[in-house]
Amino acid sequence: MARAATLPRLTWQSATLTQVRRESSTASTLRLDVAGWPGHRAGQHVDVRLTAADGYTAVRPYSLASAAGSGLVEITVATTPGGEVSTYLVNDAVAGNHVEVRGPLGSWFVWDVSDPDPVQLVAGGSGVVPLMSMLRTHGSAGHPAPMRLLYSVSDPEQVLYADEVEQLAHAATVLHTRHSPPGTARPPGRVTPAEVEEHTLPATSRPSVFVCGPTGFVEAMLTVLTGLGHDPERIRAERYGERSSP
Ligand SMILES: Cc1cc2nc3c(=O)[nH]c(=O)nc-3n(C[C@H](O)[C@H](O)[C@H](O)COP(=O)(O)OP(=O)(O)OC[C@H]3O[C@@H](n4cnc5c(N)ncnc54)[C@H](O)[C@@H]3O)c2cc1C
Repeated sequence: MARAATLPRLTWQSATLTQVRRESSTASTLRLDVAGWPGHRAGQHVDVRLTAADGYTAVRPYSLASAAGSGLVEITVATTPGGEVSTYLVNDAVAGNHVEVRGPLGSWFVWDVSDPDPVQLVAGGSGVVPLMSMLRTHGSAGHPAPMRLLYSVSDPEQVLYADEVEQLAHAATVLHTRHSPPGTARPPGRVTPAEVEEHTLPATSRPSVFVCGPTGFVEAMLTVLTGLGHDPERIRAERYGERSSP
């Protein structure tokens, strides 16, 4: 009987965890060794499948954090309270464990070094993960166009890739929703339209815009960005779930 053609990246592959790094009290970066990994584009994700001893399986998508062209397959997972897969990957997974992955997946929420335009990234919580892949790809290529990050996160302890974000200096703005760092003038709170305007590239510079985070955050940012005159055709968004804005 004829079998349906299968794209290699849609086939489940065995992967070995080779490194687990703590990013915060609730998030870890996991490096995976995937035989025959074809490489990925910044912004893509993989599906991760876990299988229990009784055969029960759970599949969740996770964005790739590593730079395109690096050859590294790294995901960063933040725990969802009570979450089945995220709490296992963050709290229990150790180097040497095996999981299954398929991917890289996604062809729309991606940034390539061939894009000559300025880029504005807008992250809510763990939505910073695919945007960090873009920043790393941009940095390692020495791309001449500006790439800026506006990052909304609950408190300073939850900032992912804190050292790298700090090194971005003028290219990154971190705003806290629940607790601000000591000594900062801004009280904690959701990002306001005025702050988006202040800390992002102007619509007149026609940047490519990528927004990623919980659904409520993404919807709020899309409303603000289009209100500031950004062309909806130049805005790409990825929604992680139903949690309210970080
Ligand atoms: C394209 C894509 C890329 C993603 N990339 C990442 C990533 O890089 N890092 C990362 O940490 N997560 C990422 N996610 C989210 C991830 O896929 C899971 O949804 C998340 O880890 C929760 O899975 P879980 O099994 O732990 O929770 P579940 O057991 O599925 O859910 C537990 C409870 O939490 C609720 N819930 C589920 N998901 C969420 C959520 N996202 N927000 C709020 N409540 C939720 C459920 O309704 C349920 O009540 C991505 C999602 C998508 C669609």
